[in-house]
Amino acid sequence: MDNSLAPALYIVPTPIGNLEDITFRAVRILKQCDIIACEDTRTASKLLKLLNIEPKLLVSYFEHNERARASELIDKIKTGKSVALISEAGTPVISDPGWAVVQEAIANNIEIVSLPGASAFLTAIVASGIAADKFAFFGFPPHKKGRKTFLQKIAELDITAVMYESPYRIRKLLDELGEIVAPERKICLARELTKIYEEYIRGSIAEVKEFIQNKSNLKGEFVVILEGKK
Ligand code: SAM
Repeated sequence: MDNSLAPALYIVPTPIGNLEDITFRAVRILKQCDIIACEDTRTASKLLKLLNIEPKLLVSYFEHNERARASELIDKIKTGKSVALISEAGTPVISDPGWAVVQEAIANNIEIVSLPGASAFLTAIVASGIAADKFAFFGFPPHKKGRKTFLQKIAELDITAVMYESPYRIRKLLDELGEIVAPERKICLARELTKIYEEYIRGSIAEVKEFIQNKSNLKGEFVVILEGKK
């Protein structure tokens, strides 16, 4: 069997918690590619070990060296190497590094092979019970500058809005939304997806706000799904 991969940039989603959520194709590509570019070589090594994948070469590719690394990776592909891009969890590029290398690949006429796979927002929206026929994904809200304007814009949308938020800011986010959105508007918080303590907190803004104010353990990162304005 020929085990080599055609030179290209392979975008490979990895699990968001449950190790079983990786495709056969993703495992094959990670085994066969010449280079795996990851955010952090230590966490990637752990994941690859659990999946029984021995990387030929693992290189780091993260926010602060993204531009420089993107050019290096593209040069490697030009010399015939296959490069797989992974992130800490889920799909690269989605609130994760990767956009720069995709742009470079397109500019250099390099083939991009994007694999379907795990992503927290898609997993959450389909089980949220909030309309998924039209939605907009916003990634993380800004922490400080522009946060208020950002949330006000989201509050005015007439389609579902999807965001990511950390456990440290989730109560604050609910308070802020509570001030600008009608209390009966539906919201769903999804946390620890695919893990043992997976939880969906569904209800009106007022109900969900009260629920999480009284909840002591808010571990895990969140996907926030807000119903559009009627
Ligand atoms: N690239 C990833 C994806 O495809 O979903 C997202 C990476 S972003 C840095 C991490 C954020 O995704 C977390 O802060 C959280 O909002 C969301 N997330 C990732 N895994 C999750 C999970 N298992 N449960 C809930 N949210 C999760």
